[in-house]
Parts: sequence; C-alpha cells; structure tokens
Amino acid sequence: MNINLGGKKAFISGSTSGIGFAIALGLVKVGSTVYINGRTNESVNDAIQRIKKTVPNAEIYGVTADLSKKEGVKTVFHELPQVDILVNNLGIFEPKPFVEITDDDWEEYIQVNFMSAVRLSRFYLPNMTKNQWGRILFNASAYSGFYSGEMVHYGATKAALLALSRGLAESVTNGVTVNAFIPGPTRTEKVEKHLSGNSNETNSDFDSIESHIFHSMLHTSILKRFVNPEEVANLVVFLASEQASAITGSAFKVDGGIYRTLL
Ligand code: NAD
Repeated sequence: MNINLGGKKAFISGSTSGIGFAIALGLVKVGSTVYINGRTNESVNDAIQRIKKTVPNAEIYGVTADLSKKEGVKTVFHELPQVDILVNNLGIFEPKPFVEITDDDWEEYIQVNFMSAVRLSRFYLPNMTKNQWGRILFNASAYSGFYSGEMVHYGATKAALLALSRGLAESVTNGVTVNAFIPGPTRTEKVEKHLSGNSNETNSDFDSIESHIFHSMLHTSILKRFVNPEEVANLVVFLASEQASAITGSAFKVDGGIYRTLL
C-alpha cells in the first residue's frame, strides 16, 4: 500500500513533542503539508527544525497558540482558515486523587482536552463538507475506556471525546470521515522523564521500570511494554489516508493489547 497525502493540509493540536510530533512527522513523510502547534514560538520552531532535519523538503509550518483558551483557538482559525486533516491530539494528564481535583482542575481538563477539539472540529468541518473530503481524528487514550487510577478527570474527558467522535461521524457527509485512536501508555519524552524521576530504585534503568509497571499495574498488556509514538503515528497516517475511505465512526486501539475485550 502506498500512502500519498500530497496536496492535503493537516493541523495537529499540541504537536511540538510526544505523540503529536510523531504524527506530524508521519504525515510529512507521506507528502502532507503539516501545521505544528504549541504554546511558544521557540517550541514550534524547534519542532519544525527537527522535522526538516529528517525530511529536508518537508512542507512544515507552525501556529503558536494556547488552545486552552477560546482566543488561542481563534488564532489558529485566523492563521489557518482551512485544513483537510484535523488531528485533535492535544491532551494534558497528571495523577491526582479524586477528592483533590478542584473545580479549576476540572475546568482546565475540559477546556484543553475536550473543548479545544470541539472548537477545532466545528470550525474546520464545513469546508471539508464543501470539498467532499476530510479527516477528523481524536486522540482518546486507553483511559477513555477503563479505570484510570488517579486520573479520573483525564479519563472522563477522553471518554467524552469518544462520544464526540461517534456523534460527529454520524453528522458528516460522504468523503469526510471521523474516527478516534486509542493509544496505550506511550513512551514519550515526558513519560520517560517522569518515570526516571520517580524511580525509587537508584540503579534501575528505564527497561526495568517498564518491566515492573507492565507486570503489575498494567499487567493486561500483551506486549508488556510502552507503545512508541511512531507506532501511534502509523495508525493515524493510515486513518488519514485515501485507503481508509470506508472507515468512519470507529475507535482504534494501538495499545499493545492492554484492553481485554474482543472488539
Ligand atoms: P506531550 O506532553 O509529550 O506533548 C504535549 C504537546 O501539547 C506539546 O507539544 C505541548 O507544547 C502541547 N500543549 C500542551 N498544552 C497546550 C495548550 N494549552 N495549547 C497548545 N499546545 C499545548 O503529550 P503526549 O504524551 O504526547 O500526549 C499527547 C496526546 O496523547 C494527549 O491527548 C494524551 O492524552 C494522549 N495520550 C498520551 C499517552 C501517553 O502515554 N503519553 C497515552 C495515550 C494517549
């Protein structure tokens, strides 16, 4: 299968690092024009340079905007009035016991993880409909579907994204598809740093921390390892492709088999 997204314009929210960055790189590699997003010019420019190092002729641009605020999302609309592929990737997460999650925390999670995706989808959909071609994708996380430990606020916003994705899919016309992707715990720079910093075992390296986690807390994982951001990006690139034209209203796991369900 030869995926070619030449001539298609993509925006990925929260993409200067982690999964979003890997998706940007994946889409650039198949010819898409890609717009990276982050909150500072430095992080956006740095991400663009890193992509250009790997793909020198990349059509890669940036939009600096804080998508936790309405105004930030408006900046994106102003700088980029039309896209063919929208990847609602942005999401924040941090463990916190339920009783300590304040109203402000809830509000922040709803604005960043959910409302940014609502606003971006609402704005970009009409042109996709007019062009009879479009892809809207939501990053829903494995915690959208099972107990999220001390991240109830995170899990709740991710479950809401699944409902949004299916509901939106039902409202679009031919040529536009809407899907969610569900990464399992993913080995991003941030996760690596967090785990290394939290290790109580002085000499333990990342591999032994990983092995411990996947044989205890995350024992249902079949692969017994973190997913790599590139493995998530591969799924997203496929879902964005012409070849995925009959796939809509679905949610796809790329989780190393952590969900013990048949479907
Ligand atoms: P990350 O922290 O590595 O990257 C976050 C990106 O979002 C950065 O580019 C950052 O600049 C940007 N960002 C943060 N707040 C922003 C804001 N208000 N406005 C604009 N940009 C902002 O994150 P990640 O781990 O790659 O997570 C990306 C997505 O993947 C999230 O939706 C997350 O829920 C989901 N996810 C992550 C994992 C995991 O284990 N890392 C697993 C499943 C799903």
